[in-house]
Amino acid sequence: MSFDLYGLKPRNGIPMPDQAADEDGKAYWVWFDNVKLDNTKGAYIKIPFFLWHQLWKFIIEKFDGILSKKEMNSIFYNSPQTIDHAKAMEIAQKLRELDNELSHYEKRLNNLQDEECDICGGTGKRCEPPEIGPGDIICNRCNGKGVARPVETIFPFRMDVVRNFAEFCEYSGGFLKL
Ligand SMILES: [Zn+2]
Repeated sequence: MSFDLYGLKPRNGIPMPDQAADEDGKAYWVWFDNVKLDNTKGAYIKIPFFLWHQLWKFIIEKFDGILSKKEMNSIFYNSPQTIDHAKAMEIAQKLRELDNELSHYEKRLNNLQDEECDICGGTGKRCEPPEIGPGDIICNRCNGKGVARPVETIFPFRMDVVRNFAEFCEYSGGFLKL
């Protein structure tokens, strides 16, 4: 599951056709069919659901006020939402200010040590589900190793996605989230 973001008016690309002014809707659908393959900066980007959530929690925590309260409520959902040019530019700038801090966060997550598996009690073999604890069955959390990656790392934080999003915002001319 992910969020699709479409640039309203990419700096060097094709503006999103105005659906209301487009009588037969043809221009819109031609654009829609092609935009996902358009590599122009700011035209289109896809962001995994969990990363979008992590990212916006950071942005909202650090820079309260970029989005209105109403916008903040919808930003976490797949409902269509438009972010205007000025706000997109501000998001790009803020993300760059956060780059250092977010890079540290990414590194910290990557460097977390494996922890004793809580399903099999570190033995590599678990008891019959739904019970947890040591048993005779090869553990499906740690694959029999007895240790596993910490829960916080299930959803990895990815700076490459953050930087792509910042660049997308800067070039998008505002964007539509679907
Ligand atoms: Zn285990």
